[in-house]
Amino acid sequence: MPDASAQPTTDADRAIPGPLAGYTTLRTGGPAARIVAAGSADEIVRAVRTAAEPVLILAGGSNVVIGDAGFPGTVVLVRSRGVRVIAEDATSVTVRVDAGEPWDDLVATTVANGWSGLECLSGIPGSTGATPIQNVGAYGQEVAETITGVEVYDRIQGTRQVIPAADCGFAYRGSIFKYVDRWVVLSVDFRLTRSPLSGPVRYAELARALGVEVGDQVPLADARAAVLRLRAGKGMVLDANDPDTRSVGSFFTNPVLDRATYDHLVERATELGDPPAWPGADGLVKVSAAWLIDKAGFAKGHPGEGGVAISSKHTLALTNRSGTAHTSDLLALAATIRDQVHARFGVTLHPEPVLVNCTL
Ligand SMILES: Cc1cc2nc3c(=O)[nH]c(=O)nc-3n(C[C@H](O)[C@H](O)[C@H](O)COP(=O)(O)OP(=O)(O)OC[C@H]3O[C@@H](n4cnc5c(N)ncnc54)[C@H](O)[C@@H]3O)c2cc1C
Repeated sequence: MPDASAQPTTDADRAIPGPLAGYTTLRTGGPAARIVAAGSADEIVRAVRTAAEPVLILAGGSNVVIGDAGFPGTVVLVRSRGVRVIAEDATSVTVRVDAGEPWDDLVATTVANGWSGLECLSGIPGSTGATPIQNVGAYGQEVAETITGVEVYDRIQGTRQVIPAADCGFAYRGSIFKYVDRWVVLSVDFRLTRSPLSGPVRYAELARALGVEVGDQVPLADARAAVLRLRAGKGMVLDANDPDTRSVGSFFTNPVLDRATYDHLVERATELGDPPAWPGADGLVKVSAAWLIDKAGFAKGHPGEGGVAISSKHTLALTNRSGTAHTSDLLALAATIRDQVHARFGVTLHPEPVLVNCTL
Protein backbone atom coordinates (compact mmCIF):
# COMPACT_ATOMS: atom_id res chain seq x y z
CA MET A 1 0.00 0.00 0.00
CA PRO A 2 1.43 3.44 -0.77
CA ASP A 3 2.79 5.03 2.38
CA ALA A 4 0.87 8.14 3.23
CA SER A 5 1.09 7.74 6.97
CA ALA A 6 1.83 11.35 7.78
CA GLN A 7 1.09 11.93 11.46
CA PRO A 8 -0.59 15.35 11.60
CA THR A 9 -0.69 17.18 14.91
CA THR A 10 -2.65 20.30 14.00
CA ASP A 11 -5.23 21.16 11.37
CA ALA A 12 -2.59 23.12 9.47
CA ASP A 13 -0.32 20.04 9.40
CA ARG A 14 -3.09 17.96 7.96
CA ALA A 15 -2.89 19.55 4.53
CA ILE A 16 -0.47 17.45 2.46
CA PRO A 17 0.16 18.80 -1.03
CA GLY A 18 1.12 16.61 -3.96
CA PRO A 19 -0.20 14.58 -6.85
CA LEU A 20 -2.50 11.68 -6.09
CA ALA A 21 -0.34 9.25 -8.11
CA GLY A 22 1.71 8.76 -4.94
CA TYR A 23 -1.38 7.48 -3.13
CA THR A 24 -2.51 4.92 -5.70
CA THR A 25 -1.12 1.49 -6.57
CA LEU A 26 -1.43 2.38 -10.26
CA ARG A 27 0.82 5.39 -9.64
CA THR A 28 -1.34 7.62 -11.82
CA GLY A 29 -3.63 10.53 -10.97
CA GLY A 30 -3.20 14.32 -10.94
CA PRO A 31 -3.17 16.71 -7.98
CA ALA A 32 -5.88 17.29 -5.37
CA ALA A 33 -6.91 20.73 -4.18
CA ARG A 34 -6.31 19.50 -0.60
CA ILE A 35 -5.25 16.22 1.04
CA VAL A 36 -6.04 15.56 4.69
CA ALA A 37 -4.85 12.55 6.72
CA ALA A 38 -7.26 11.32 9.43
CA GLY A 39 -5.87 8.97 12.11
CA SER A 40 -9.03 7.95 14.01
CA ALA A 41 -12.75 7.51 13.40
CA ASP A 42 -13.42 10.87 15.08
CA GLU A 43 -10.82 12.56 12.89
CA ILE A 44 -12.30 10.99 9.76
CA VAL A 45 -15.78 12.27 10.67
CA ARG A 46 -14.44 15.72 11.51
CA ALA A 47 -12.43 15.89 8.29
CA VAL A 48 -15.40 14.86 6.15
CA ARG A 49 -17.80 17.24 7.97
CA THR A 50 -15.56 20.26 7.69
CA ALA A 51 -13.97 19.63 4.29
CA ALA A 52 -14.60 21.81 1.29
CA GLU A 53 -16.66 19.74 -1.16
CA PRO A 54 -16.25 17.65 -3.20
CA VAL A 55 -14.71 15.05 -0.88
CA LEU A 56 -12.95 11.83 -1.89
CA ILE A 57 -12.32 9.12 0.68
CA LEU A 58 -9.05 7.37 -0.13
CA ALA A 59 -7.35 4.58 1.81
CA GLY A 60 -4.85 2.23 0.13
CA GLY A 61 -5.59 3.57 -3.35
CA SER A 62 -5.61 0.02 -4.75
CA ASN A 63 -9.08 0.11 -6.28
CA VAL A 64 -9.29 3.59 -7.77
CA VAL A 65 -8.38 5.12 -11.10
CA ILE A 66 -7.95 8.87 -10.67
CA GLY A 67 -8.01 11.16 -13.70
CA ASP A 68 -4.94 13.04 -14.90
CA ALA A 69 -6.62 16.31 -13.89
CA GLY A 70 -6.66 15.03 -10.31
CA PHE A 71 -9.47 15.82 -7.87
CA PRO A 72 -10.86 19.34 -7.50
CA GLY A 73 -11.72 19.02 -3.79
CA THR A 74 -10.57 17.48 -0.51
CA VAL A 75 -9.10 14.00 -0.35
CA VAL A 76 -9.49 12.44 3.11
CA LEU A 77 -6.86 9.75 3.68
CA VAL A 78 -8.16 7.02 6.01
CA ARG A 79 -5.31 6.24 8.42
CA SER A 80 -7.11 4.93 11.56
CA ARG A 81 -5.67 1.76 13.12
CA GLY A 82 -6.91 -0.78 15.63
CA VAL A 83 -8.20 -4.34 16.09
CA ARG A 84 -10.30 -5.17 19.18
CA VAL A 85 -12.12 -8.34 20.25
CA ILE A 86 -15.67 -7.21 21.06
CA ALA A 87 -17.31 -10.60 21.66
CA GLU A 88 -16.20 -14.19 22.03
CA ASP A 89 -17.39 -17.60 23.05
CA ALA A 90 -16.11 -21.17 22.82
CA THR A 91 -16.45 -21.35 19.05
CA SER A 92 -16.15 -17.83 17.70
CA VAL A 93 -14.62 -14.41 18.13
CA THR A 94 -15.90 -11.09 16.82
CA VAL A 95 -13.31 -8.41 16.04
CA ARG A 96 -13.94 -4.72 15.42
CA VAL A 97 -11.36 -3.33 13.02
CA ASP A 98 -10.69 0.34 12.31
CA ALA A 99 -11.12 1.32 8.67
CA GLY A 100 -7.48 2.22 8.03
CA GLU A 101 -6.06 -1.06 9.32
CA PRO A 102 -4.04 -2.62 6.47
CA TRP A 103 -6.07 -5.61 5.28
CA ASP A 104 -3.30 -8.14 4.98
CA ASP A 105 -1.96 -7.32 8.47
CA LEU A 106 -5.42 -8.18 9.78
CA VAL A 107 -5.53 -11.46 7.84
CA ALA A 108 -2.07 -12.39 9.17
CA THR A 109 -3.23 -11.66 12.73
CA THR A 110 -6.35 -13.80 12.40
CA VAL A 111 -4.35 -16.72 10.98
CA ALA A 112 -1.76 -16.43 13.79
CA ASN A 113 -4.55 -16.41 16.40
CA GLY A 114 -6.35 -19.47 15.01
CA TRP A 115 -9.36 -17.48 13.80
CA SER A 116 -10.72 -18.96 10.59
CA GLY A 117 -12.64 -17.07 7.91
CA LEU A 118 -10.28 -14.63 6.17
CA GLU A 119 -7.33 -16.88 5.23
CA CYS A 120 -8.14 -17.14 1.51
CA LEU A 121 -8.20 -13.33 1.32
CA SER A 122 -4.48 -13.16 2.13
CA GLY A 123 -2.34 -10.76 0.12
CA ILE A 124 -5.11 -8.43 -1.07
CA PRO A 125 -3.80 -4.86 -0.84
CA GLY A 126 -5.59 -1.95 0.75
CA SER A 127 -7.47 -1.17 3.93
CA THR A 128 -10.01 -3.08 5.99
CA GLY A 129 -12.57 -0.26 5.67
CA ALA A 130 -12.60 -0.65 1.89
CA THR A 131 -13.34 -4.38 1.97
CA PRO A 132 -17.12 -4.03 2.38
CA ILE A 133 -17.24 -1.47 -0.47
CA GLN A 134 -16.90 -4.10 -3.19
CA ASN A 135 -17.32 -7.19 -0.98
CA VAL A 136 -13.69 -8.11 -1.48
CA GLY A 137 -13.22 -11.71 -2.50
CA ALA A 138 -10.70 -14.23 -3.79
CA TYR A 139 -10.11 -17.98 -3.95
CA GLY A 140 -13.64 -18.86 -2.93
CA GLN A 141 -14.00 -16.49 0.05
CA GLU A 142 -15.72 -13.08 0.34
CA VAL A 143 -15.83 -10.68 3.28
CA ALA A 144 -19.64 -10.84 3.18
CA GLU A 145 -19.37 -14.30 4.77
CA THR A 146 -17.78 -12.99 7.98
CA ILE A 147 -18.84 -9.33 8.28
CA THR A 148 -21.58 -8.87 10.87
CA GLY A 149 -21.84 -5.08 10.71
CA VAL A 150 -20.24 -1.94 9.29
CA GLU A 151 -19.98 1.29 11.30
CA VAL A 152 -20.47 4.25 8.99
CA TYR A 153 -20.75 7.99 8.98
CA ASP A 154 -23.78 8.97 6.89
CA ARG A 155 -22.81 12.12 4.97
CA ILE A 156 -26.45 12.92 4.16
CA GLN A 157 -27.89 12.58 7.67
CA GLY A 158 -24.69 13.65 9.44
CA THR A 159 -24.96 10.66 11.82
CA ARG A 160 -22.93 7.60 12.84
CA GLN A 161 -24.61 4.20 12.77
CA VAL A 162 -23.92 0.49 12.43
CA ILE A 163 -25.38 -1.13 9.33
CA PRO A 164 -25.98 -4.87 9.90
CA ALA A 165 -24.50 -7.15 7.23
CA ALA A 166 -27.97 -8.14 6.01
CA ASP A 167 -28.60 -4.51 5.01
CA CYS A 168 -25.25 -3.98 3.23
CA GLY A 169 -26.51 -5.34 -0.10
CA PHE A 170 -23.45 -7.54 -0.55
CA ALA A 171 -23.15 -9.01 -4.04
CA TYR A 172 -20.37 -10.10 -6.40
CA ARG A 173 -17.86 -7.20 -6.18
CA GLY A 174 -20.57 -4.88 -4.94
CA SER A 175 -22.58 -3.50 -2.00
CA ILE A 176 -24.76 -0.50 -1.17
CA PHE A 177 -21.51 1.41 -0.49
CA LYS A 178 -19.94 1.18 -3.96
CA TYR A 179 -20.27 4.11 -6.39
CA VAL A 180 -22.12 6.31 -3.86
CA ASP A 181 -20.70 9.19 -1.86
CA ARG A 182 -23.05 8.77 1.08
CA TRP A 183 -21.24 6.37 3.42
CA VAL A 184 -17.86 6.65 5.11
CA VAL A 185 -16.79 3.34 6.66
CA LEU A 186 -15.31 3.88 10.13
CA SER A 187 -14.93 0.27 11.32
CA VAL A 188 -15.95 -3.24 10.34
CA ASP A 189 -16.99 -6.18 12.58
CA PHE A 190 -16.00 -9.72 11.53
CA ARG A 191 -17.23 -12.90 13.20
CA LEU A 192 -14.54 -15.58 12.85
CA THR A 193 -14.49 -19.24 13.83
CA ARG A 194 -12.02 -20.48 16.41
CA SER A 195 -10.32 -23.22 14.44
CA PRO A 196 -6.79 -24.22 13.47
CA LEU A 197 -8.24 -25.21 10.10
CA SER A 198 -9.45 -23.19 7.13
CA GLY A 199 -13.02 -23.36 5.93
CA PRO A 200 -13.63 -26.02 3.26
CA VAL A 201 -11.41 -25.11 0.28
CA ARG A 202 -13.81 -24.11 -2.52
CA TYR A 203 -11.48 -23.05 -5.31
CA ALA A 204 -10.10 -25.85 -7.50
CA GLU A 205 -6.81 -24.07 -8.26
CA LEU A 206 -6.17 -23.53 -4.54
CA ALA A 207 -7.06 -27.15 -3.72
CA ARG A 208 -4.58 -28.31 -6.36
CA ALA A 209 -1.87 -26.03 -4.96
CA LEU A 210 -2.49 -27.48 -1.49
CA GLY A 211 -2.61 -31.08 -2.75
CA VAL A 212 -6.13 -31.61 -1.34
CA GLU A 213 -9.64 -32.10 -2.72
CA VAL A 214 -12.16 -29.28 -3.05
CA GLY A 215 -14.13 -29.31 0.23
CA ASP A 216 -11.15 -30.36 2.37
CA GLN A 217 -9.88 -28.19 5.22
CA VAL A 218 -6.21 -27.37 5.76
CA PRO A 219 -4.20 -25.62 8.50
CA LEU A 220 -4.83 -21.87 8.35
CA ALA A 221 -1.16 -21.06 7.80
CA ASP A 222 -1.00 -23.50 4.87
CA ALA A 223 -4.02 -21.87 3.23
CA ARG A 224 -2.47 -18.42 3.67
CA ALA A 225 0.92 -19.52 2.31
CA ALA A 226 -0.63 -21.22 -0.73
CA VAL A 227 -2.81 -18.20 -1.53
CA LEU A 228 0.17 -15.83 -1.22
CA ARG A 229 2.22 -18.08 -3.55
CA LEU A 230 -0.55 -18.29 -6.15
CA ARG A 231 -1.17 -14.55 -5.98
CA ALA A 232 2.52 -13.63 -6.28
CA GLY A 233 2.78 -15.81 -9.39
CA LYS A 234 0.04 -13.69 -10.96
CA GLY A 235 1.44 -10.32 -9.87
CA MET A 236 -1.44 -9.96 -7.41
CA VAL A 237 0.65 -9.17 -4.33
CA LEU A 238 2.11 -5.66 -4.28
CA ASP A 239 5.85 -5.72 -4.94
CA ALA A 240 7.74 -2.48 -5.56
CA ASN A 241 10.19 -4.42 -7.77
CA ASP A 242 7.51 -5.98 -9.95
CA PRO A 243 5.94 -3.56 -12.49
CA ASP A 244 3.16 -6.12 -13.07
CA THR A 245 1.81 -5.15 -9.66
CA ARG A 246 1.47 -1.44 -10.57
CA SER A 247 -2.23 -2.02 -11.15
CA VAL A 248 -5.62 -2.15 -9.46
CA GLY A 249 -5.62 -5.95 -9.57
CA SER A 250 -8.37 -7.12 -11.91
CA PHE A 251 -9.43 -4.21 -14.09
CA PHE A 252 -12.68 -5.81 -15.25
CA THR A 253 -15.23 -7.85 -13.32
CA ASN A 254 -16.30 -11.24 -14.62
CA PRO A 255 -19.52 -10.53 -16.56
CA VAL A 256 -22.67 -12.11 -15.13
CA LEU A 257 -24.93 -13.13 -18.02
CA ASP A 258 -28.51 -14.31 -18.30
CA ARG A 259 -28.97 -17.70 -19.91
CA ALA A 260 -29.87 -16.37 -23.38
CA THR A 261 -26.81 -14.09 -23.53
CA TYR A 262 -24.60 -16.93 -22.29
CA ASP A 263 -25.98 -19.32 -24.95
CA HIS A 264 -25.37 -16.64 -27.59
CA LEU A 265 -21.76 -16.28 -26.37
CA VAL A 266 -21.19 -20.04 -26.55
CA GLU A 267 -22.50 -19.99 -30.14
CA ARG A 268 -20.17 -17.17 -31.13
CA ALA A 269 -17.23 -18.92 -29.52
CA THR A 270 -17.91 -22.41 -30.92
CA GLU A 271 -14.44 -23.02 -32.32
CA LEU A 272 -12.82 -21.81 -29.07
CA GLY A 273 -14.61 -24.25 -26.76
CA ASP A 274 -16.90 -23.26 -23.89
CA PRO A 275 -15.69 -20.26 -21.87
CA PRO A 276 -14.88 -20.97 -18.21
CA ALA A 277 -18.15 -20.21 -16.42
CA TRP A 278 -19.69 -20.47 -12.95
CA PRO A 279 -23.47 -20.97 -12.75
CA GLY A 280 -25.19 -18.78 -10.17
CA ALA A 281 -28.69 -18.20 -8.83
CA ASP A 282 -31.69 -17.45 -11.07
CA GLY A 283 -30.10 -19.02 -14.16
CA LEU A 284 -27.33 -16.40 -14.24
CA VAL A 285 -23.87 -17.45 -15.37
CA LYS A 286 -20.60 -15.73 -14.41
CA VAL A 287 -18.06 -15.92 -17.23
CA SER A 288 -14.28 -15.51 -17.10
CA ALA A 289 -13.38 -11.98 -18.26
CA ALA A 290 -9.74 -13.09 -18.62
CA TRP A 291 -10.79 -15.77 -21.14
CA LEU A 292 -12.88 -13.29 -23.16
CA ILE A 293 -9.99 -10.81 -23.27
CA ASP A 294 -7.46 -13.44 -24.24
CA LYS A 295 -9.67 -14.92 -26.96
CA ALA A 296 -10.46 -11.44 -28.30
CA GLY A 297 -6.76 -11.15 -29.14
CA PHE A 298 -5.11 -9.61 -26.07
CA ALA A 299 -2.38 -11.83 -24.71
CA LYS A 300 -0.53 -11.31 -21.44
CA GLY A 301 1.98 -8.49 -21.83
CA HIS A 302 0.00 -6.82 -24.66
CA PRO A 303 1.24 -3.20 -24.75
CA GLY A 304 -0.85 -0.05 -25.05
CA GLU A 305 0.34 3.48 -25.80
CA GLY A 306 2.27 5.59 -23.31
CA GLY A 307 3.86 2.86 -21.19
CA VAL A 308 0.81 0.83 -20.17
CA ALA A 309 0.42 -2.91 -20.78
CA ILE A 310 -1.60 -5.94 -19.82
CA SER A 311 0.29 -7.65 -17.00
CA SER A 312 2.74 -10.28 -18.22
CA LYS A 313 1.32 -12.59 -15.53
CA HIS A 314 -2.45 -12.00 -15.61
CA THR A 315 -4.72 -11.04 -18.52
CA LEU A 316 -7.13 -9.16 -16.26
CA ALA A 317 -4.62 -6.70 -14.81
CA LEU A 318 -3.81 -3.49 -16.70
CA THR A 319 -0.53 -2.04 -15.52
CA ASN A 320 1.39 1.21 -15.52
CA ARG A 321 4.35 -0.76 -16.84
CA SER A 322 6.72 2.18 -17.31
CA GLY A 323 5.78 3.84 -14.04
CA THR A 324 5.30 7.13 -15.92
CA ALA A 325 2.06 6.39 -17.78
CA HIS A 326 -1.02 8.58 -17.55
CA THR A 327 -4.50 7.53 -16.56
CA SER A 328 -5.64 8.45 -20.08
CA ASP A 329 -3.22 5.84 -21.51
CA LEU A 330 -4.57 3.17 -19.20
CA LEU A 331 -8.19 4.01 -20.01
CA ALA A 332 -7.43 4.01 -23.74
CA LEU A 333 -6.12 0.43 -23.46
CA ALA A 334 -9.13 -0.54 -21.33
CA ALA A 335 -11.54 0.94 -23.90
CA THR A 336 -9.83 -0.92 -26.77
CA ILE A 337 -10.13 -4.20 -24.87
CA ARG A 338 -13.76 -3.57 -23.88
CA ASP A 339 -14.75 -2.65 -27.46
CA GLN A 340 -12.96 -5.60 -29.05
CA VAL A 341 -14.46 -8.08 -26.57
CA HIS A 342 -17.90 -6.66 -27.35
CA ALA A 343 -17.34 -6.82 -31.11
CA ARG A 344 -16.11 -10.43 -30.89
CA PHE A 345 -18.48 -11.88 -28.27
CA GLY A 346 -21.35 -9.42 -27.75
CA VAL A 347 -20.48 -9.14 -24.05
CA THR A 348 -19.80 -5.81 -22.32
CA LEU A 349 -17.00 -5.74 -19.75
CA HIS A 350 -17.33 -3.36 -16.79
CA PRO A 351 -14.46 -1.90 -14.76
CA GLU A 352 -13.98 -3.20 -11.21
CA PRO A 353 -12.20 -0.13 -9.73
CA VAL A 354 -13.91 3.14 -8.93
CA LEU A 355 -13.19 5.79 -11.59
CA VAL A 356 -12.61 9.23 -10.07
CA ASN A 357 -12.81 12.28 -12.32
CA CYS A 358 -12.35 10.15 -15.43
CA THR A 359 -14.50 7.87 -17.57
CA LEU A 360 -14.12 4.73 -19.64
C1 LIG B 1 -2.40 -6.19 -6.95
C2 LIG B 1 -3.86 -6.07 -6.55
C3 LIG B 1 -4.60 -7.21 -6.28
C4 LIG B 1 -5.95 -7.11 -5.90
N1 LIG B 1 -6.66 -8.26 -5.66
C5 LIG B 1 -7.96 -8.19 -5.29
C6 LIG B 1 -8.71 -9.38 -5.02
O1 LIG B 1 -8.20 -10.49 -5.10
N2 LIG B 1 -10.01 -9.25 -4.67
C7 LIG B 1 -10.61 -8.03 -4.55
O2 LIG B 1 -11.79 -7.99 -4.22
N3 LIG B 1 -9.92 -6.89 -4.77
C8 LIG B 1 -8.62 -6.93 -5.14
N4 LIG B 1 -7.91 -5.78 -5.39
C9 LIG B 1 -8.59 -4.48 -5.29
C10 LIG B 1 -8.35 -3.76 -3.94
O3 LIG B 1 -7.19 -4.19 -3.32
C11 LIG B 1 -9.51 -3.94 -2.97
O4 LIG B 1 -10.71 -3.53 -3.55
C12 LIG B 1 -9.28 -3.14 -1.67
O5 LIG B 1 -10.29 -3.46 -0.75
C13 LIG B 1 -9.26 -1.64 -1.87
O6 LIG B 1 -8.83 -1.06 -0.66
P1 LIG B 1 -8.19 0.38 -0.61
O7 LIG B 1 -8.02 0.72 0.82
O8 LIG B 1 -6.97 0.41 -1.45
O9 LIG B 1 -9.34 1.25 -1.26
P2 LIG B 1 -9.17 2.59 -2.14
O10 LIG B 1 -8.59 2.24 -3.45
O11 LIG B 1 -8.49 3.64 -1.36
O12 LIG B 1 -10.70 2.98 -2.35
C14 LIG B 1 -11.52 2.19 -3.17
C15 LIG B 1 -12.95 2.75 -3.13
O13 LIG B 1 -13.46 2.60 -1.81
C16 LIG B 1 -13.74 3.87 -1.23
N5 LIG B 1 -13.29 3.78 0.18
C17 LIG B 1 -12.09 3.37 0.64
N6 LIG B 1 -12.10 3.39 1.99
C18 LIG B 1 -13.32 3.84 2.36
C19 LIG B 1 -13.93 4.10 3.62
N7 LIG B 1 -13.29 3.89 4.79
N8 LIG B 1 -15.21 4.55 3.62
C20 LIG B 1 -15.89 4.77 2.44
N9 LIG B 1 -15.35 4.56 1.24
C21 LIG B 1 -14.08 4.10 1.20
C22 LIG B 1 -12.97 4.89 -2.04
O14 LIG B 1 -13.61 6.16 -2.02
C23 LIG B 1 -13.02 4.25 -3.42
O15 LIG B 1 -14.26 4.53 -4.01
C24 LIG B 1 -6.56 -5.84 -5.78
C25 LIG B 1 -5.80 -4.69 -6.04
C26 LIG B 1 -4.46 -4.80 -6.42
C27 LIG B 1 -3.65 -3.56 -6.68
